[in-house]
Amino acid sequence: MPTVVLPDGAKRAFPDARTAADVARAIGPSLAKRALAAEINGRVVDLSHPVAEGDAVRILTAEDEGGLLAMRHTAAHILAQAILRLYPGTKLGVGPVIEDGFYYDVDPPQPITADDLPRIEAEMKKIIAEDHPLIRQEVTREAAIRHYEAVGDPYKLELIAAIPEGEPITFYRQGEFVDLCRGPHVPSTGKVKAVKLLSVAGAYWRGDHRRPMLTRIYGTAWASEKDLEAYLARLEEARQRDHRRIGKELKFFTFSREVGQGLPLWLPNGAKVRRIIERYIVDLEESLGYQHVYTPVLANVELYEISGHYAHYKDNMYPPMELDHERLVLRPMNCPHHMMIYKSEPRSYRDLPLKIAELGTMFRYEASGALTGLHRVRGMTLNDAHIFVTPEQIESAFSEVVELILRVYRDFGIDDYWFRLSLRDPADTEKYVQNDAMWEMAEGMLRRALTDLGLDFVEAKGEAAFYGPKLDVQVKTALGKDETLSTVQLDFVLPERFDLTYVGEDGASHRPVVIHRGVVGTMERFVAYLLEKSKGALPVWLSPEQAVVLPVSDRFREAAEAVVRALQAAGVRVRFDARAESLNYRIRDAQVKKIPYTLVVGEREAESGTVAVRRRGEKAAETMSIEAFIALVKDDVAHRR
Ligand code: ATP
Ligand code: ZN
Ligand code: ZN
Repeated sequence: MPTVVLPDGAKRAFPDARTAADVARAIGPSLAKRALAAEINGRVVDLSHPVAEGDAVRILTAEDEGGLLAMRHTAAHILAQAILRLYPGTKLGVGPVIEDGFYYDVDPPQPITADDLPRIEAEMKKIIAEDHPLIRQEVTREAAIRHYEAVGDPYKLELIAAIPEGEPITFYRQGEFVDLCRGPHVPSTGKVKAVKLLSVAGAYWRGDHRRPMLTRIYGTAWASEKDLEAYLARLEEARQRDHRRIGKELKFFTFSREVGQGLPLWLPNGAKVRRIIERYIVDLEESLGYQHVYTPVLANVELYEISGHYAHYKDNMYPPMELDHERLVLRPMNCPHHMMIYKSEPRSYRDLPLKIAELGTMFRYEASGALTGLHRVRGMTLNDAHIFVTPEQIESAFSEVVELILRVYRDFGIDDYWFRLSLRDPADTEKYVQNDAMWEMAEGMLRRALTDLGLDFVEAKGEAAFYGPKLDVQVKTALGKDETLSTVQLDFVLPERFDLTYVGEDGASHRPVVIHRGVVGTMERFVAYLLEKSKGALPVWLSPEQAVVLPVSDRFREAAEAVVRALQAAGVRVRFDARAESLNYRIRDAQVKKIPYTLVVGEREAESGTVAVRRRGEKAAETMSIEAFIALVKDDVAHRR
């Protein structure tokens, strides 16, 4: 009669309870019915797992992560069972649970494609309806090997060989199907409520490109059809927002294996938007006293030895090019070049704050698994600046940058972001420069400035740069990942390392402080963000093409061409579409291309010198003079709509 600890901390004795399932039944029939697995002393296990005196036991249902995990794990087995029924002779790899679902890697005697998924899914539903209990069975290594030798499955044999000596080997049986697995699973296949197969992909056995390519089938499982549908809707929304899809469809950017992984090629449409953003931010910064410079993307390794990047950041850098008298690296950041610009002439307190800015191109050797469209690339251009200040100017300069960020976000209509104050982790002596007094002062200063600005922020230990604390502005990508868009970083270290000085009011030499900041961030990530936020329907001022002109038929071609010329002369970005397609087809095409205004020129318009204007997403058209339309676009641009 074990006494176990329940999740609320209560100790309770359960007469005759041998397993977690017995505990669930003793607590109540409703819980027993909903129970999928159990958590015993923090580990998710089968309901059939024995309970012992003093165990902390939590019964898991579909409301719990662990319950869903056991259900999805079981769904993977059901998938394998269905495949063996439909494709006898299939060899099985692994079938783990992943976020929101599961997959199974299989090696079938004939190819399985996406077209086969409905048939496999139907078989899975049959297996669920058959409600086979899952029976756990500990086997000896010899028995396990014998089983898979008889089946002729080299992958499972390899998995068995990898299980350390002395660790138990378990099989799970459901109906005619047996799988090598550690568990946990739900008690029977009928407990899997709503399943769906999602996609098929190729995957190398053990992720090794020299090993055979298996077929990976992805699926998901939920506690109810309703949960499944909500999940599929979320997936569809994410797909619609995914800038990789939009960027391809609207021809913004592309990648090529020959150029290299993570090195984007900006196509004309993307380049146009990027140029607008670059002009916007450079003009704005110059109006605020920033001085823009150009510096090379290469530098001697020595520069990064001075800055400390080579010690702290080497793994993220492309390796040096060894030349006769120089060792050059691609720069992973622009700071050291700007330090040398500061040093290029004597500075006085009268020169400060000195704001050196650049659209600086840089290269980082990001892990190939982290590369995601334009969100995370290996070659990028940062809207960078380094502000050199006296210690007294830190807070006001920092506040000014934060205000600039807020202004830019307003202009781009960005309202879904949050501030993260990134602090050091004092325990991490490897990553962070050791200087307690410096860190405490700098972190306190940023905290105070943010509070004075009345901004909400979250503090994150261990996210600071190696040289100082920073403020990051975080946004969510379509895939649900948090990424940094803007950043403001305080730095007392680089001025020291580069021996930067200014002559103070007292005539003596002093050390400036550096503020690193990116407002728009990298052009790559910013454009990715804008595409996801707008689902590709960029505002008029940013759209690569603001209007398309469509003659109703060839008869009105000349009149339409005159409209195009007038718009071009007025600086409107316009496209002409006189293809031999129906008017409706061309209107639809303009909507697909997300062009803000569609202008139709027919009999009436040609005669009266007007255009029929249809806004993106609207059905009705409004007739107006060409001048009125130009004024409309100019107004949009002036108000950044
Ligand atoms: P992360 O933590 O995202 O790798 P970081 O903190 O190293 O970035 P910083 O050195 O602060 O990045 O870079 C400045 C800005 O450059 C970031 O705010 C972000 O907008 C952008 N950025 C950084 N890495 C990438 C990348 N691989 N691809 C695109 N943009 C990037
Ligand atoms: Zn399993
Ligand atoms: Zn910098």
